[in-house]
Amino acid sequence: MNVKPKSATFDLEQQWAHVKRQLRSEYGDTAYRTWLASLTLEGLEGDRVRLSVPTRFLRDWIASHYADRIKLLWRRTNSMIDGVALTVAQTPVSEKGKASEMLTNPAPESAPSPRVTALSPSAPVAEIGPSAEVSGPLDPRCTFDNFVVGKPNELAFAAAKRVAELNQLPFNPLFIYGGVGLGKTHLMHAVAWEIQRQAPDRKVVYLSAEKFMYQFIRALRFKDTMSFKELFRSVDVLMVDDVQFIGGKDSTQEEFFHTFNTLVDRGSQIVISSDRSPSELSGLEERIRSRLGWGLVVDIHPSTYELRLGILQSKAEGLAAQVKVPDRVLEFLAHRITSNIRELEGALNRIVAQATLVGRAITLEMAQEVLQDLLRAHERRITIDEIQKRVAEHYNIKVSDMHSARRARVVARPRQVAMYLAKQLTPRSLPEIGRRFGGRDHTTVMHAIRKIEELRTSDAVINEDIEQLRRQLHG
Ligand code: ADP
Ligand code: MG
Repeated sequence: MNVKPKSATFDLEQQWAHVKRQLRSEYGDTAYRTWLASLTLEGLEGDRVRLSVPTRFLRDWIASHYADRIKLLWRRTNSMIDGVALTVAQTPVSEKGKASEMLTNPAPESAPSPRVTALSPSAPVAEIGPSAEVSGPLDPRCTFDNFVVGKPNELAFAAAKRVAELNQLPFNPLFIYGGVGLGKTHLMHAVAWEIQRQAPDRKVVYLSAEKFMYQFIRALRFKDTMSFKELFRSVDVLMVDDVQFIGGKDSTQEEFFHTFNTLVDRGSQIVISSDRSPSELSGLEERIRSRLGWGLVVDIHPSTYELRLGILQSKAEGLAAQVKVPDRVLEFLAHRITSNIRELEGALNRIVAQATLVGRAITLEMAQEVLQDLLRAHERRITIDEIQKRVAEHYNIKVSDMHSARRARVVARPRQVAMYLAKQLTPRSLPEIGRRFGGRDHTTVMHAIRKIEELRTSDAVINEDIEQLRRQLHG
C-alpha cells in the first residue's frame, strides 16, 4: 500500500462518509443515531481502520452488534482494508494499546482467547483458503454463569452443562431447538468456554451451519475436500449452530452427514442447534433428519415474564457501576417486550446508552420515550374477536363457545382465559368485555380475571398457555 499519506487520509474520509451513509440506510435513523453516530474516524493502522467512540459501553455494543457489518462495508469500499479497530476516545496515550481492540473480538483483556479451535497454523484448512480459523469467535459474555435459568430453558441448560462437564458422552448428538433470540447460541458458546476451561487440550469447533457450507463449497472450489474432511474429523466436540440453513445443496448435506457420522463413530460429541425440531427440518433428507434426533432433543420454550425479569435484573446488576436501572423500568420492559431475549437486551441497552450519553436519569417515562418505536411495534391493536378466535383455536373449542352459556370446564376455562386476555390486551372495560362474551355481567368477567390470575401463580401449564397466546396475539 504505497499511497501518499495525504491522499490516503482524504480517501479514507470519503470512504468513511460512504460507509456511514450505508449504515444509516441499513439500520435506520433511530438505530444509527443511538449507536453509530458517535463513531469517529481516527485514521489508519496498517491495513486496519481505527474508529473511536466516547464510552466503553458503546464500544462493546458496537463491537458485538455492528462490527462485522462495518468491516464488510468498508472492505467493499476499499478492498485493502482488512479490519477495523475500535477505541474509546480520550484515553491517555499510554493506555491506547489497551483500549484498542479488534472489532471482531470484543473480549475483555482478562478473558482467555475467545477462539476455541486449537487448529495449528499448519492445519490443512490453511490450504483451502487464506483463513486458518474454522471456529467462529466466541462471545465472552455467553457463559453458563451469565445464563439465567428459568422454566422455559432449564432442560436445555442442564443438558448443555452435562455435555460440557462430562468426559463420556451422555447423549450424542445434543440437539437444542427454539425460536430466535432465546439463548441457543449462548448455550453453545457456554459449552465451548466451559470445555476450554476444564480441558484446554480438547479440540472444540463451533461454527454456524452457514459457515460449514461456505467452508465446504470453498474446499470444492479449491479441489481440496480431503483437508476439509480431515479438519472436521479431528475434533473432539463439534457444534453446528442454526442447522436449519443446511438444507438445499445436496452435496453439503451429504458432507455434513458424513462428517457427523464419522465423528459420532469416533466418539466425538456433537451439539446442534436449530430454530425447529429435527422432524420439522424440511429441506433435509429423511435419514439425516432422523439421525439428528437420535441423541437428546431439547427445546427452549418462549420466555415467561419471570425469566425475562430475571435476565433483566442480572444484566442491570452488571451495569450497576455505570447506571442504576429502577426495578419499575425492568418490570415494564419484561412486561412489554415479550418477543425474545435479544430484543429485551437491546431495549435495556438503548435506555442505558441514552442515560450514559446524555447523562439522563432512567425513569419509566424516559424508557417509554426512548423505546417509542419498539413499543409501538409491540402494540398492534388487538381486538376481542381476535382473542376469542385464538383462544378457541388454542383449546380446540368452537368460537361460539365463547358466547354460549355452557359451563363445562372444557369451555368455561378457555372462556375465562379469553376474558383475562381481553382485559389485559385491549382498552375495553369490564362491562364491555362482558357484553362481548354472550352478554355476561361485569362481575363474571371480574371473577374470571381473578381466577386466571390465581391460576397463573399455581398452574404452570395455564401460565405457559397465556404467554403463548399473548405472543401470538402480539404477532
Ligand atoms: P438464539 O441463538 O437462540 O437466537 P442467542 O443465544 O443469540 O439466541 O440469545 C440472544 C441474546 O439473549 C444473547 O445476547 C444472549 O446472551 C441473551 N440470552 C438469551 N437467553 C438468555 C438467558 N437465559 N440468560 C441470559 N442471557 C440470555
Ligand atoms: Mg443463534
